Amino acid sequence: MKVARPRGVDDLLPDAAGAWQRLDMLARSVCHRFGFHEIRTPVFEHTDLFLRGVGEDTDIVAKEMYTFPDRAGRSLTLRPEGTAGVVRAYLEGGLQAAPQPIKLFYASAPMFRYDRPAVGRYRQFHQTGVEVFGAASPAADAEVITLAHALFAEAGLTQAEVRLNSVGCPTCRPRYRERLLAYYRPHIDNLCADCRVRYERNPLRLLDCKVPSCARLAAGAPTVSEYLCEGCAAHFATLRELLSTADVPFTADPGIVRGLDYYTRTVFEVVSGDAGALCGGGRYDGLVETLGGPSVPAVGFAIGIERLLDALARAGGRAEPGEGPCVFVVCAGEGLLADTLRLTSRLRAAGVSAEFDLLGRGVRAQMKHADRIRARFVMVLGEEEAERRVVAIRDMRTGVQEDVAADAVAEWVKERVSSGV
Ligand SMILES: [Zn+2]
Ligand SMILES: [Zn+2]
Repeated sequence: MKVARPRGVDDLLPDAAGAWQRLDMLARSVCHRFGFHEIRTPVFEHTDLFLRGVGEDTDIVAKEMYTFPDRAGRSLTLRPEGTAGVVRAYLEGGLQAAPQPIKLFYASAPMFRYDRPAVGRYRQFHQTGVEVFGAASPAADAEVITLAHALFAEAGLTQAEVRLNSVGCPTCRPRYRERLLAYYRPHIDNLCADCRVRYERNPLRLLDCKVPSCARLAAGAPTVSEYLCEGCAAHFATLRELLSTADVPFTADPGIVRGLDYYTRTVFEVVSGDAGALCGGGRYDGLVETLGGPSVPAVGFAIGIERLLDALARAGGRAEPGEGPCVFVVCAGEGLLADTLRLTSRLRAAGVSAEFDLLGRGVRAQMKHADRIRARFVMVLGEEEAERRVVAIRDMRTGVQEDVAADAVAEWVKERVSSGV
């Protein structure tokens, strides 16, 4: 019996891998230009990290975590998001003793949530994200938002838009919370079951509900921006100025509160047309302390890779086909396998991607195969060529064929590839 893959996960087959690689390289390049350094943390952590770091009242912790006892009975959880693990590593690795700020990124890191599978939503999904530790200034918020904007622009998603809000701090939020509860009190009976729980435990998240009747109520709710304390209001104003200076277009959107408990002050999303939010982030000044460290301000974001690739595919039409090998070496005579292998090895050692037939096929079948795998050049090595110490090379784009000295083929190929002929 065949075993199928579990529900909610996907395979990355070679045809789709090219788009991932390009996006990964782009993310690394943008992060390096902004002075961020890579961090990789484990896929599983102690469950307690997420209970404290993400919040027990969130949907993620309450409904979506892959939690299991290991063989020694410890409760472990497959990470549902990236930030908590990065904060733990920052503390455990002693990075708070290094010169601040610490600017970190992770790329295409797998995350796990037991969510209802849907188009573009998987139980194992991937995120690329950044975190900046040790900078309370709005310049740090501007830095990560500018980075996100650059990444989306360079990826070619021109309609991506930054939506920005401030959710205040522990000084101003209780006042807003009171005001919000007063607004919702007469409507409790009209709220969905989840929202009735939110009303009791975490009213800010009432604004996040996607149930239409709740969303209508949320649209009329008082906005947190009217209740910001002086410090939060000044922080938000400076951030908006800095983004304008950096030519990052944004919309202030009081409806953005983000689903996680740990945000303070800045929250933002990057949205693109009907694809919705492709990137979410914000400031989390209390999180390092919550996880047992000193008080360290921090700000970051995460991008959902599957959703971004999906949006890119829809924006850019069809995906480019993956690239074939540069050279296919056709073995055109019995007893020439050793010569074929030597030639292929020489090309590979010179940095040229090269393949040869592994199935012992005839010349015509090898030529046909070279064409199907989109080889740029086909080199034919036959008895006669071997004697003359040359190789017959056909350019599959132009159809032109010529003999090239056997020990000069690698240079010949590289010259043509680098000059774009
Ligand atoms: Zn405040
Ligand atoms: Zn609701």
